[in-house]
Amino acid sequence: MSDPAAGTISSRLLPLLQQLRQVAGEKDRDRINRYILDTLAKLYGIEDGAIYLYFLHGNQHWLAINAALTHRDGEREISSIDPYQLNVHARQELEGLPHLQTPLQDGTRHLEESQHWQLLVYPLLHKDTPYALIELQRATPFAADELEELDQFIGILQDHLNLVRYAETDTLTGMLNRKTFDENLDRVLASVHECEVENIPASGEQRHLPPEPGLIWLAVMDIDHFKQINDNFGHIIGDEVLILLSQLMRDSFRLHDQLFRFGGEEFVAVLRTGSAEDTVRVLERFREHVAEHAFPLVGQVTISIGYTLVDPLDTPTELVARADSALYYAKQNGRNMVACYEDLRAAGLIGGGQAKATEIELF
Ligand code: GH3
Ligand code: MG
Ligand code: MG
Repeated sequence: MSDPAAGTISSRLLPLLQQLRQVAGEKDRDRINRYILDTLAKLYGIEDGAIYLYFLHGNQHWLAINAALTHRDGEREISSIDPYQLNVHARQELEGLPHLQTPLQDGTRHLEESQHWQLLVYPLLHKDTPYALIELQRATPFAADELEELDQFIGILQDHLNLVRYAETDTLTGMLNRKTFDENLDRVLASVHECEVENIPASGEQRHLPPEPGLIWLAVMDIDHFKQINDNFGHIIGDEVLILLSQLMRDSFRLHDQLFRFGGEEFVAVLRTGSAEDTVRVLERFREHVAEHAFPLVGQVTISIGYTLVDPLDTPTELVARADSALYYAKQNGRNMVACYEDLRAAGLIGGGQAKATEIELF
């Protein structure tokens, strides 16, 4: 017998808790996104919905669609794009989309109503910074209690997504961590493979074309004499250099190049270019950019870069070991230098055994 004073369980509560439990046990963002849209469709009659990732790159704002909910002939359809396979062709500029711009700016839910549809948009925030949007549409108006429930539901999802993200990223720089690299290399490579090669503009027409031919490279970058920076200026300033360097990396590389902090003062970039010459150009440009940057208090900071061509059959360890051996060469030969594993091998400057020897962290 239920106590009448305790009220009755809303018909939505049990299914809502069931869905939440499913999400709470999930750490794959792709599946989480699907659960979210599925729940909103089932429990709140959402007809159209989308989850977008939001990026600020340079001074441009971008959205990339991550999952979409549609109804076709009464059938619910949910499509999603693996977050590691960020499809640049599905990205759009935020300019001219005020219903999405407003919630990003305000950091709060945005409701737009017209005679025929209701549009509800939630920003997802991490430490007050928006990184995603959930856009929901249906014909009937949202009741006040439904909106309150949705606020709580989305709030819980945001907290869970933030935990998932916390496990994937390095807390100091916010870059993806080494564990994410090791566990998702195949997805990361697929993502870079799908993107357009440098200098080829993205356009709507390219969406269904096969990827342009291109080569995928992995570059390991390590700050030169970083120990001295810590010794001379202290760890706090050392950390500041790491944060600034990660910002320079984000600004210098393209949006869909994948960037990681491997730990310490070592960073990794996975990038796709049209040719070996383009790769040297991109990496040299970044090396110079860092060397020319005035770091507060510290002044000049230089980096050495070792890189290698990615073979789809590479294991994460093999791949990193080759780039590491080129990096080792750069460190031995003057630092503030870019070195290519394949070129060094061809020139007989490093041996095949080198890669194995450097599997242990050398720097
Ligand atoms: P090299 O040019 O050969 O790379 O010299 P290095 O001094 O950069 O190389 P080494 O590997 O000897 O020193 C790396 C230093 O990085 C040691 C450690 O104190 C520092 N370090 C590692 N992680 C962090 C971090 O998170 N913050 C700070 N401030 N320092 C770190
Ligand atoms: Mg170093
Ligand atoms: Mg190092």
